[in-house]
Amino acid sequence: MDDERNRFLTELMGQCWHDYDIDKPINTYSLEAFICKKCKGFILGNNDFSQEEDFMRLYNWAKDQEKLKKITEEYNEGDFHGPERGRLYRERFANSIYDFFK
Ligand SMILES: [Zn+2]
Repeated sequence: MDDERNRFLTELMGQCWHDYDIDKPINTYSLEAFICKKCKGFILGNNDFSQEEDFMRLYNWAKDQEKLKKITEEYNEGDFHGPERGRLYRERFANSIYDFFK
């Protein structure tokens, strides 16, 4: 997982790159959660754009950005789903957005 890229993209989207103590989770019934020191939010972790759920937030955001139109148009939304081939496309897309702004 590429933290540097994920952090950059998360902040680019105007979201908090959460700062939390990974050693001090709050145990709820079924999951481990954390309290972010910056936004005080109750969180499960930071964005990992290789994961489908987090990725779709990035993709939907990117689709609304006029200057990213050229990049988003190179991809088919259907290619982003699934564990292996989807992951490859998700990584490629996230890297393209990252490179565009770097
Ligand atoms: Zn936060």
